[in-house]
Amino acid sequence: MTSLADWFEDKRKFGGLIGALIEKATKGYVLSEREKDRSISIDTNKGLWTRCDNCENMLYVKFLKQNKRVREECGYHLQMDSTERIEPLIDRGTWIPMDEDMVARDVLEFHDEESYKDRIAFSQKRTGLTDAIQTGIGKLNGVSVALGVMDFQFMGGSMGSVVGEKITRPIEHATQESMPLVLVCSSGGARTQEGTLSSMQMAKIPSVLQIHQVQKRLLHVAVLTYPTTGGVTASFGMLGDIIIAEPKAYIASAGKRVIEQTLRQKIPDGFQVAESSSDHGLPDSIVPRNLSKGVLSEIFEPYASALCKV
Ligand SMILES: [Zn+2]
Repeated sequence: MTSLADWFEDKRKFGGLIGALIEKATKGYVLSEREKDRSISIDTNKGLWTRCDNCENMLYVKFLKQNKRVREECGYHLQMDSTERIEPLIDRGTWIPMDEDMVARDVLEFHDEESYKDRIAFSQKRTGLTDAIQTGIGKLNGVSVALGVMDFQFMGGSMGSVVGEKITRPIEHATQESMPLVLVCSSGGARTQEGTLSSMQMAKIPSVLQIHQVQKRLLHVAVLTYPTTGGVTASFGMLGDIIIAEPKAYIASAGKRVIEQTLRQKIPDGFQVAESSSDHGLPDSIVPRNLSKGVLSEIFEPYASALCKV
């Protein structure tokens, strides 16, 4: 088996299975203003410099990446893509990705400012992924875990049928193999373009989680990052046996704007941010990114001891 670094390198070079799929998708679309904004911000991140969303200082991307995209001076955790998250979490050479070739079908032939097909094609090209999550199994300090990491760069990390199915399968695998599960959430919620097919994932995932957590008594750790919202919060995001949040992570079901419009009241600053949610008992712990592997490893310590006894 190749090392994790080799695998990522191959993926970058050859685009894996994704290249062929992009060609199949419709071409010749025009970017909406929103997509343009997003693509500019991504390109900035790929350049030499980027800006901290918190203190607005310019940051050298190379150093920022070395520091897991945490700005040391102000402690702000900038967004990471799924690959950047998997690499430091999983022991080198142990990552086995699952269902990398799964692609969404545009069953509803959905079209708003752009067609759903075009949005998928755009995100595939930009991220090199087939959909908004990477899943697989790997070792975390020697303990086998099933891991799913959502990717906000792909259509805002929205959960459609592919994301739902890609989360369901490693849970089933983990249940079968008595492995703990880590789901790293980063999502705008359910994927509008898939309508009910998207909403039903919110129920499907908890139904397999129930077997994993309750019947088999295995651990599920949910890691909530900026942002964890909508259908993801309202589903597996809140179902971790242990819920960890990253500092300043935005955690919400309905967003601030929706609540303000519905209640016709101003929401206080800091509302729905990990720290204020923690004051009200929501996440079990707020863990800075550079400690997350160590913390997860401690949580899974019983599994390590169980393995030693076998
Ligand atoms: Zn800053």
